[in-house]
Amino acid sequence: MRKSIVSFVLLASVAYGLDGAPNVPLRGYTAEHSTTEIAWEQKFRALPDPERVREDMQRLSARPHHVGSPYDKDNAEWLLAQLKSYGLDAKIEVFDTLFPTPKSRKLELLGAAKFVASLEEPAIAIDPTSDQKKEQLPTYNAYSIDGDVTAPVVYVNYGAPADYEQLDAMGVSVKGTIVIARYGQTWRGIKPKLAAEHGAVGCIIYSDPRDDGYFEGTPYPEGPMRPPEGVQRGSVMDMPTYPGDPQTPGIGAVPGARLIPLAEVQTITKIPVLPISYEDAKPFLQALGGQVAPEAWRGGLPFAYKTGPSTAKAHLAVAFNWDRKPLYDVIARIAGSAFPDQWVIRGNHHDAWVNGASDPLSGTSAELEEARGLGELLRQGWRPQRTIIYCFWDGEEPGLLGSTEWAETHASELSKYAVAYFNSDGNGRGYLNAEGSHTLENFVDSVSRDIEDPETKMSVWNRERLVGISRAAPEARSELRARTDLHMSALGSGSDYTVFIDHLGVSSVNLGFGGEDQGGGQYHSVYDDFYWYTHFSDTGFVYGRALAETAGTMMMRMADADVIPYQFGDLADTIHTYVGEVKKLADTMRAQTRERNTEIADGVYKALDDPKKTKVAPPVEALAPYFNFAPLDQAADDLSAASAEYDKAFTAHAASGSSAVNIKIIQAERALLDPGGLPSRPWFQNMIYAPGLYTGYGVKTLPAVREAIEQKQWKEVDAQIVRTAAAVDREASLLKDAAHTLEAGQ
Ligand SMILES: [Zn+2]
Repeated sequence: MRKSIVSFVLLASVAYGLDGAPNVPLRGYTAEHSTTEIAWEQKFRALPDPERVREDMQRLSARPHHVGSPYDKDNAEWLLAQLKSYGLDAKIEVFDTLFPTPKSRKLELLGAAKFVASLEEPAIAIDPTSDQKKEQLPTYNAYSIDGDVTAPVVYVNYGAPADYEQLDAMGVSVKGTIVIARYGQTWRGIKPKLAAEHGAVGCIIYSDPRDDGYFEGTPYPEGPMRPPEGVQRGSVMDMPTYPGDPQTPGIGAVPGARLIPLAEVQTITKIPVLPISYEDAKPFLQALGGQVAPEAWRGGLPFAYKTGPSTAKAHLAVAFNWDRKPLYDVIARIAGSAFPDQWVIRGNHHDAWVNGASDPLSGTSAELEEARGLGELLRQGWRPQRTIIYCFWDGEEPGLLGSTEWAETHASELSKYAVAYFNSDGNGRGYLNAEGSHTLENFVDSVSRDIEDPETKMSVWNRERLVGISRAAPEARSELRARTDLHMSALGSGSDYTVFIDHLGVSSVNLGFGGEDQGGGQYHSVYDDFYWYTHFSDTGFVYGRALAETAGTMMMRMADADVIPYQFGDLADTIHTYVGEVKKLADTMRAQTRERNTEIADGVYKALDDPKKTKVAPPVEALAPYFNFAPLDQAADDLSAASAEYDKAFTAHAASGSSAVNIKIIQAERALLDPGGLPSRPWFQNMIYAPGLYTGYGVKTLPAVREAIEQKQWKEVDAQIVRTAAAVDREASLLKDAAHTLEAGQ
């Protein structure tokens, strides 16, 4: 689901002077076991075949396959047959979830310049699947509420919190209007949420050519970028509150599950929403009066962008079939030989908005090739020590439905048995992008040393490291060069790892290649298909093979280790960094408010603003109080000490192959959960990581503390510091206990 965003998260550095040389023996392995493991991994990496990745994608993308469609079920059954043919024990688990589809959609501009939006993506002759009209879902935003509204239009840029502050300063209100927002910057579901909170009655979201159309490159089909009538479908479910089936929060949507009534669901939008192309958006933008929009708000269309409101009114009417539809999760299992109750889990979704070659099948096909490789190793005599589970999720696009319902259904087993979850989604050409739990930072570093970049032939680790250093600020480079391992960014939301890391506390990593293909313009449209992918992305499917090699090696190395190779020094360091950030956030906000209050008192706004333009000075505000960060400082220090003790004991004793400690450290990520959850969203229980309530995809670290400060809920802050510190303390205690287990040599 998540649009690929180029970000350099693997900022690695010279460690051992060799390009990608693995640290041997492998962490968590005896010397002898390390040698046999490396041999099996090398055998595995020779197996994934780009030609098969290509054929799998072609088969799976042949017809539209959204939730509830005939080809969605057909694909699930085909995936099941493939996995069985590889010798894996596979089955389909079925869930029933709410999945609205359009009954009627209408958008028109009233008045003298009357215009009716087409709301259609035309077929393109050269693209053989773009004309499958009967099976294509119309362009819409899933989980928009039904509505029929007529109102003037106001342009809100990306519809992010800062955009509303700007509108306030310009004296423009969206109350009673239909806002038009452009796609980008924030996750799309934030746009109608904020619009409704500011009093708007409807929301239109369009794709500006500045962001993924002709401003960025040649439009489809000559190039990869979005054509004039291309539309981005997508979910607007309030996933930062909880993802998954809106009617069964926190429990699996198995047949017969108790449903909360539709009228009580919190995650459906409060106002109607509709996505449109820029061709359809033009008349609405041109009808806007009022002030010229700030420079950063102007897109790539050839006219002046104004804030509005428009004199002419827009009429937006949408109605949906609020049906429950079946989901088909395909699940394959390889039983562990030594530790069957320790599970290593892999997942990628198989459903799409339309044909979905890039999103998700570029990842799905690689995952399938990976499963075939492991099946082949089983035939050759390899047996993983831990249980391996391969998941092909349904219903990711509407709201992470298949992964959430599966994990909620199996929550009590996962809480006991889950060791790690490795996710991927769409895949492209370029650099390895890995984000996730810092307990796995060292592990991801070690595997990425062993993967060859298919085009440059250097290790993906070294490529990432060199690119990261060259793009860093000059003053930051020496530190990056001196680092002994790569640094991994935290996970927000936007794909199927969410339930694992945020709800159940399973250490998770999201993996994908990208950054060199000029994608984005096909995203969630009928043009994300086999023709597009084989002309503009990983056309040789060599990065599909690289993803299979990377994720498959991670699965093997995690499943085969004698002691689970978590590393806690990285976690402790990272938590120290986050504590520093939230303190600085409070200081910065206090200083900014103080400065602004002084300016208001001095009359600066009156002096600066053009008296003939509407400008509204901000109100005088109370300063942020001083908070007591001591419990967090103490807990972070205690965690550093405990992690040093554990990592020392690990180095001294893990190589003896003692496995008793596994049963303790398997709970390491779970210790970071608070069963009470985050304020106003109890489903999110991880006190270190969460998607932002007002960013959607973007991560908020130490979320309970950070968001209380950002939202100026001053009375909450100290209490949330205490709760977050308690989670860090639990982690420290667990590590001390585990270190003693290692030292006892059990
Ligand atoms: Zn996806």
